[in-house]
Amino acid sequence: MAGTAVLGRLTWLVADVAGSVEETPRVRTLLLDAEGLVDHRPGQHLDVRLTAEDGYQAQRSYSIASAPGEQLAITVERLTDGEVSPWLVDEAHDGDRFEVRGPIGGYFVWEDDGRPVFLVGGGSGVVPLMAMIRSSSGSARMRLLYSSRTLEDVIYRGELAEHDGHGVEVFYTLTRAQPPGWTGYSRRIGVDLLREVAWPATERPQVFICGSTRFVDAAADGLVELGYEPESIRTERFGATG
Ligand SMILES: Cc1cc2nc3c(=O)[nH]c(=O)nc-3n(C[C@H](O)[C@H](O)[C@H](O)COP(=O)(O)OP(=O)(O)OC[C@H]3O[C@@H](n4cnc5c(N)ncnc54)[C@H](O)[C@@H]3O)c2cc1C
Repeated sequence: MAGTAVLGRLTWLVADVAGSVEETPRVRTLLLDAEGLVDHRPGQHLDVRLTAEDGYQAQRSYSIASAPGEQLAITVERLTDGEVSPWLVDEAHDGDRFEVRGPIGGYFVWEDDGRPVFLVGGGSGVVPLMAMIRSSSGSARMRLLYSSRTLEDVIYRGELAEHDGHGVEVFYTLTRAQPPGWTGYSRRIGVDLLREVAWPATERPQVFICGSTRFVDAAADGLVELGYEPESIRTERFGATG
């Protein structure tokens, strides 16, 4: 029943930490068991709620990193002085519990309609895009343009290397420092870089852009300048930083 499904998504559920993966020095993936959570669509997020011993609660949103049907995963970047992310990255252990509700979001969601898919991610903004890549497993034509500060900050580096060339073309730009012999880009994302990487607007790709507000605005403005229809560009903003 549709009403039940909606109610189900709004209910807080217990999530157990079932494992974790160190992605970068600042980023960790948490594998979660959340009984009762309905399956998600690639691009959706969860609300996470932590409750302290004195009853104080803090709530934040985290994109679902896993593909539908896979072990549920979120990937969190530690923000220094942040309230929730340092706990999730540094303190959460296997067997710890917190609450989640979701999956949430009906707009920043990829559905394969046969068109090519252009993904643009900045920092941890790659997380919902990774869910799309994992869901596609080579069936759709995808291109990812991924901006990180340094190579060490690239999340999912090993897995992206495996996907690269198998339905997904991956382009990196490292904006702060590049290792010796770096052959990728080193510029911030703007119209010039987009012109080199994006498909021509005439191919009418679906576009998903995710990152900090400033990053998302720069990428979306650049694509509109290249002739992309604003309606073809879906954006998700993680916050003001970055
Ligand atoms: C739809 C959605 C999906 C998201 N998905 C992800 C994801 O997949 N991965 C991910 O890592 N994040 C994601 N985020 C961001 C996430 O929700 C949190 O905002 C992030 O983890 C920071 O939370 P925090 O509690 O650690 O930091 P907060 O305590 O909220 O602080 C955020 C920043 O503000 C600064 N700050 C805090 N208080 C002050 C103050 N008083 N004055 C000045 N500066 C201050 C902190 O230093 C920090 O840098 C997502 C956000 C949205 C909206």
